[in-house]
Amino acid sequence: MDIFDKCYKFTAAREAIAGGYYPFFLAMTDNEGTEAVYQGRHLIMCGSNNYLGLTTHPRVRQAAIDAVKRFGTSCTGSRFANGTLELHEQLERELSEFVGKESALIFTTGMQVNLGTISSLVGRGDYVILDKEDHASIVDGAKLSYGETKRFRHNDLKDLERVLSNLPENKGKLVIVDGLYSMGGDLAPLPEMIPICKKYEARLMVDDAHGMGVFGGGRGTSAHFGVTDQVDLIMSTFSKSFASIGGFIAGDDDIVHYIKHSARSLIFSASISPANTAAALEALHIMIEEPEHAARALENGDYMRKEMRRLGFEIGNSVSPIIPILIHDDMRTIFAWKSLFEAGVFVNPVISPAVPEGQQLLRTSYMATHTREQLDCVLEIYERVGKQIGLIA
Ligand code: PMP
Repeated sequence: MDIFDKCYKFTAAREAIAGGYYPFFLAMTDNEGTEAVYQGRHLIMCGSNNYLGLTTHPRVRQAAIDAVKRFGTSCTGSRFANGTLELHEQLERELSEFVGKESALIFTTGMQVNLGTISSLVGRGDYVILDKEDHASIVDGAKLSYGETKRFRHNDLKDLERVLSNLPENKGKLVIVDGLYSMGGDLAPLPEMIPICKKYEARLMVDDAHGMGVFGGGRGTSAHFGVTDQVDLIMSTFSKSFASIGGFIAGDDDIVHYIKHSARSLIFSASISPANTAAALEALHIMIEEPEHAARALENGDYMRKEMRRLGFEIGNSVSPIIPILIHDDMRTIFAWKSLFEAGVFVNPVISPAVPEGQQLLRTSYMATHTREQLDCVLEIYERVGKQIGLIA
């Protein structure tokens, strides 16, 4: 038995490439926020996580350039050893203040935040309780831990209570939810979840990768609901509204201090680059000084939801600038993606196994920097293509 057998037998992606309907790893020649260029074709970008559009903000660009000039391109080492700059600690101080927690700790990616935080907190005999739609990095963090994972139905408070009530009283419990769900664009009902967690002495961690920067005046979904002090840990990434790459965990100082000394994805990986740190820091300053970016992202989301519903698209429970078009079938989803791509709109097809069978969708998302003209052009294409392929009447 050759361990590579599975690779030789994996033909689905090659067949899709040969058939011209492969939607992944598309190498763009340009990507300036709201517009991308693929093989000479200009597309309106409706599939990005750059919610505030800050990747092209002059101040963010300049901060990254200045950091390269001052510090070079990499710290070439772990935060734990030679890879910590005063710049990293400045970002941690300012982030903790921004989200309203005692301490923050930055990692090189958001994925690493979840892997390191969850695996260091959830030990043998402990339980980690996840929403069924939690992001893959949370699921993988739970797998890396020595604890046991339990799942509850998406945003279902009764099911959360059922799971918690069946766990032993004398064991540690960590409930983890996304603040804003990356596929459905819906929010976790944090105010209703908190008393349930408290009743069963479970700690609550919120992954706010998508909500931070957009909701709660930029401070995220916990701030949006006014429950920051009752959420134990707040996680977010820099790869979305912060226009960079990296991520952080924020909470009480004792907890963050422990994670800092036990998260293997922090200790055994090189630190976030100076340019990425400086870009995230400058994006944070802009979020504080210019709240209009978050307001505009929400406004564009509101406009698109209203118009897409009016056109007859099935968009689920979205309340945000992330708006799914539910299609329920792999091939139809790929066909819809390709039709929109050819008509000039970039969206992301989400098929099984990334979502359970029957929940296939196009993930569309909107940015503060989309102009009304761009959005109207996208809506016109959605309507034309949607009718052509039978998604709407
Ligand atoms: N959490 C959520 C909810 C995410 O959507 C993502 C990335 N898509 C991550 C964590 C990981 O973040 P990063 O891209 O910084 O690794």
